[in-house]
Amino acid sequence: MELPERESMDFDVVVVGAGPAGLATAIRLKQLQPDVSVVVVEKGSEVGAHILSGAVIDPIGLDRLVPEWRTDAESPLTTQVTADEFMYLTPASGLRMPQWPMPKLMSNHGNFVGSLGNVTRYLGRKAEEIGVEIYPGFPAAEVLVDDTGAVVGVATGDLGIGKDGEIKDSFTRGMELRAKYTVFAEGCRGNLTKQLIHRFDLARDSDHQKYGIGIKELWQVKPEKFRPGLVRHSMGWPLPNKAGGGSWLYHFDDHLVSVGFVVHLNYENPYLSPFDEFQRFKTHPMIRDVFEGGKRIGYGARAIVEGGWQSVPKLTFPGGCLVGDAAGFVNVPRIKGSHNAVLSGMLAAEHLSQALQAGRAHDELPSYNEAWRSTEIGQDLFRVRNVKPLWSRFGTILGVGLGGLDMWMNQLLGFSFFGTLKHGKPDHATLKPIAEAEPIAYPRPDGVLTFDKLSSVFLSNTNHEEDQPSHLVLKDPSVPIRENLPRYGEPARLYCPAAVYEVVYGDAERRTDPHFVINAQNCVHCKTCDIKDPAQNIMWVTPEGGGGPNYINM
Ligand SMILES: Cc1cc2nc3c(=O)[nH]c(=O)nc-3n(C[C@H](O)[C@H](O)[C@H](O)COP(=O)(O)OP(=O)(O)OC[C@H]3O[C@@H](n4cnc5c(N)ncnc54)[C@H](O)[C@@H]3O)c2cc1C
Ligand code: SF4
Repeated sequence: MELPERESMDFDVVVVGAGPAGLATAIRLKQLQPDVSVVVVEKGSEVGAHILSGAVIDPIGLDRLVPEWRTDAESPLTTQVTADEFMYLTPASGLRMPQWPMPKLMSNHGNFVGSLGNVTRYLGRKAEEIGVEIYPGFPAAEVLVDDTGAVVGVATGDLGIGKDGEIKDSFTRGMELRAKYTVFAEGCRGNLTKQLIHRFDLARDSDHQKYGIGIKELWQVKPEKFRPGLVRHSMGWPLPNKAGGGSWLYHFDDHLVSVGFVVHLNYENPYLSPFDEFQRFKTHPMIRDVFEGGKRIGYGARAIVEGGWQSVPKLTFPGGCLVGDAAGFVNVPRIKGSHNAVLSGMLAAEHLSQALQAGRAHDELPSYNEAWRSTEIGQDLFRVRNVKPLWSRFGTILGVGLGGLDMWMNQLLGFSFFGTLKHGKPDHATLKPIAEAEPIAYPRPDGVLTFDKLSSVFLSNTNHEEDQPSHLVLKDPSVPIRENLPRYGEPARLYCPAAVYEVVYGDAERRTDPHFVINAQNCVHCKTCDIKDPAQNIMWVTPEGGGGPNYINM
C-alpha cells in the first residue's frame, strides 16, 4: 500500500521517551543552552502514564537536576525512608535479617518512597517551563537513517490503520522528527533501542542483557496498618531456591502501600507464572496482615534490566545515544535505576551540548561513552557487578550470601576475588521442556487478597484502539502451536501478566485443534514476551499513540 509522504520538523535534539532519563536529558540541555530546540516524544497518553516502578528513590539525581525540588510546594516525593527491613521467607515463617551484615551501599537511609510516575509528571512540568516541547501520545515507531548510516531522527507512528492493514477514515500519517542528535530513553527493552543495538552492533564487547519482570499493586491500607516510610524487602518463598527474585513493600503518602514482586527471567520451569507467584506471596503469614481491611487500587507490570556493569552496551552511534534503562543502568541488589536514569540523562546532555556548541551534527559522541564508567553511575554498578551472576549460578541461599560477601569486599577493599563474572545463558534460552519440569498448582484467587489477571488489568486502565494491526508481531505465526506448545506448554500464557496470550482448543474436552490467540488490547507494555519467548518469535512494536496502560500513582 502506497502511503502519502510524511511531513517533517527539525530540532537540535529529539528525545524518545519521557521517563526520568529522557526528561533529565531534555532539562539539562535547556539548562546548559537555553536556545537549543528539544522535543520529547512519549507513547503514553500523558507523561507518567506508562511509568511503573517501586519506588524507593535515591535523590542524588534529582538534587543535581532540580536542586529546589525538596522545598517545592509541588514536590512529588514527601515520604522519607524511616525503616529498612529485610526478610527471608519460608512457606510458613521467615527470618528477619539484622541490618549489620548488610553492605552499606544497600542502605536506604536518606532515600524517598513515592511514585516514579509522579516524579516524571513533575519533571515534565519542569521541562515545559524551560521550553522543552513534549508530545505525549506519540510513539516513535521508526528510526530515520541517512545515506551515510547516521541516525537523523525518528518517525512517529501512523494513526487510523485497521486490523486488516487497510486505511480508515481517521488515517493520519506519522511525522518525521529530524534532529542533529537523537537520544533513546525508551527504558527497559525499548523496541527502537533493540534495533539500534543490532544495527550498530553495540553489544559486541558486552555480555548479553539480563532481565526480570516486576509486578506491582498499589493498596490503600487501614491507618493502623500504615507505617509511613517503611521499606521492606523479602527473598525466598514462594520462589524455589533456583529461581531468583523477591518482593518489596513500601509505605508512603496517604496510607498507600506499594507491593510488588520481581521474578528473574532466567527461571527454568515453564509452569512458573510470575503473576501467580506474586499473588501467593501476599498470603504469607508475615505479609498478609498489612492488607487486612485495605483496598487494592492499582496494578501494573514492567520488565527491569538486570545485567548491570558487564551488560552495558556501547552507548553511542552516529547521530545519537542511549540513556537510562535503555543503556542498562539498573543496580539489581538495590532494585534502583531511577537515580542513574537521571544522572545518565544529565551526562549525555553535557556531551550533546558540547557537540552542538561546536557546530557538530549526526556524528558520534564517544566522550559520553567513555565517561560513564568513571562517574557515580559506573561506581554504583561496578561494586555490585557479581551479585546477579552469583545468584543465577548458585541459587538464592548460597548465591545471595556470596553476593553479599562480594559487595563487602568491593566496599572495603575496592576489588573482588571473583573479578567480573559473566552471565549465564540469555533469558529466552533457560526454559526446560515441560517433560522435564514439575507442574505448579497455584491456588484460586479469593478476590479479596488475591486476584486474577483480568480484574488486575482493569485496574491498570489499559486501553488500545481495537481496530488496529496487532502490536505483538509473530515472526512465524506457526511457532506458538508447532514448537512452543508441545515443548514448553506455550509459556506466554503464564509469563504474560495481562492475559494477552491464550491457547484455545477447537475441541476443548479432547484438547485438540489448538489456536494461539493474542488479546493485544490487554497489553500493559511490560515487554516480557519480547524477552522470554524461547523462540524469540514475538516482536513488541509500538501500537497507536496513547494506547497502553494509564497508571495513576505508580
Ligand atoms: C518493577 C520495578 C521496580 C523498580 N523499583 C525501583 C525503585 O524502587 N527505585 C528505583 O530507583 N528504580 C526502580 N526501578 C527502576 C526504575 O524504574 C528505572 O530505572 C527507571 O524507570 C528508568 O528510567 P528510564 O527513563 O530509563 O525508563 P522508563 O522509566 O522506562 O521510561 C521510558 C519512557 O519511554 C517511553 N517510551 C518507550 N518507548 C517509546 C517509544 N518508542 N516512543 C515513545 N515513547 C517511548 C515509555 O512509555 C516511558 O514513559 C524499578 C523498575 C521496575 C520495573
Ligand atoms: S503482551 Fe507482552 S508486553 Fe504485553 S503485557 Fe503481555 S508480556 Fe507484557
